Amino acid sequence: MADKQGFLTKEGGSIKTWRKRWCVLKNGSIYYSKNANSCELGTIHLKNVTNVVQSQRKKKNLFEVETPDRTYYMKATSPDEMQSWINILNKTLAKMKSSASAGQPTKERVGVEDFDLLNVIGKGSFGKVLQVRKKDTGMIYAMKVLNKKNIVERNEVDHTRAEKNILQKLVHPFLINLNYSFQTDDKLYFIMDYINGGELFFHLQNEEKFDLARVRFYCAEIVCGLEYLHNCGVMYRDLKPENILLTADGHICLTDYGISKEGLLSDDDRTATFCGTPEYLAPEILKGEAYGKAIDWWSFGTLVFEMLSGLPPFYSSDIRIMYNNIMTQKLVFTPQFTQESRDFITALLERDPNKRLKDAKVIKSHKFFAGIDWEKCVRKELVPPFIPPVKGKNDTSQVDAGFLAETAKLSAENHTSKLSSSLQKNFEDFTFVNDNEHLMHKNL
Ligand code: ATP
Ligand code: MG
Repeated sequence: MADKQGFLTKEGGSIKTWRKRWCVLKNGSIYYSKNANSCELGTIHLKNVTNVVQSQRKKKNLFEVETPDRTYYMKATSPDEMQSWINILNKTLAKMKSSASAGQPTKERVGVEDFDLLNVIGKGSFGKVLQVRKKDTGMIYAMKVLNKKNIVERNEVDHTRAEKNILQKLVHPFLINLNYSFQTDDKLYFIMDYINGGELFFHLQNEEKFDLARVRFYCAEIVCGLEYLHNCGVMYRDLKPENILLTADGHICLTDYGISKEGLLSDDDRTATFCGTPEYLAPEILKGEAYGKAIDWWSFGTLVFEMLSGLPPFYSSDIRIMYNNIMTQKLVFTPQFTQESRDFITALLERDPNKRLKDAKVIKSHKFFAGIDWEKCVRKELVPPFIPPVKGKNDTSQVDAGFLAETAKLSAENHTSKLSSSLQKNFEDFTFVNDNEHLMHKNL
């Protein structure tokens, strides 16, 4: 969660022009970008900041964020906004300083021994996800554990590296937040925020389908998340109800970048690996063609259809028939689909990726979303149509009972089949502590 966010007009560093920037204060840093869905342009780490004050310059509502290298000039939209930024920045700085002078290291070393394992909450192809409690703070997190040997044997090193980079770098209201990552000889660990409103999959199974207002709400938040990922050069590649979580207050949170691809900055960038989840695979992947970010909008179209009707459009329990359906079957709508939904889904499930609806701006202005205030949406100000029935952080009532029945433990470290040091090299740079994350939770 961001501590504060909003537009500020910032003076450029080398070229002294004033530009409106979307600023997010989170984890002890200010991240700024063009707007809430565009990729970060720069970061001001508060640990380098020496002072935050109202500016003496003539410009209205102007404040200064001083670092040894540079003073950032930021102009707020009103005197109240300016004061509110100055206050929260100074409060954050003071907390960081008092913790540092109390002898706490600025970067913690964190390992698996720092957590109590509480429950199994999910299982994936490479390991499992546990609900855990950090022993010193009592904070609850989700711990995803991956087995290094599996990753190497299945040639998934690049995917895992991308997963870590994406988790670490990307900051957006509808994407999961990473707090720490670390490793042992055998395993990799991601410590993420624990999102306990349940998988969209779980709710869809319980309720069979969602009403249109609810689908529009989830779709709007997913569109913002996907648009941001694409703007950051990331193809998600695994959009499906199992990877979409609900927060306790009913908002969307995308998790699992286990097969995402980074570095696709241009719209024409293509890749060719055959991966994903059968129901949601775009025809161009099935054909073995090089494909681009348009595949995520195909999966999104499949998901919209599924949320409104209960099943993906080309579903068959026989995977060969399903692939064939995806390639050739006519899309059939039951009477409950409105004209707008039909038009929207048909444009997303266009088999030719060149003709597919795949421009986030055009998607947002489609009649299906008529009336959605996108600025409010990305600020999480649209009222969620459904509040998951959870009581507090520890509540696992929205997790599949099958997982919870398992004992929360990790397999013992396997010292006999250690990875060679050259293979271990694959996991260099994996360890990460979110700047000042421990200070935030302890003190703010
Ligand atoms: P797969 O390959 O099968 O998609 P995976 O190994 O990549 O799975 P994830 O999808 O990241 O693993 O996690 C598995 C499940 O664990 C998710 O579907 C979700 O139910 C749960 N989960 C993951 N992250 C969190 C989180 N931060 N908070 C709560 N639950 C989570
Ligand atoms: Mg998953």
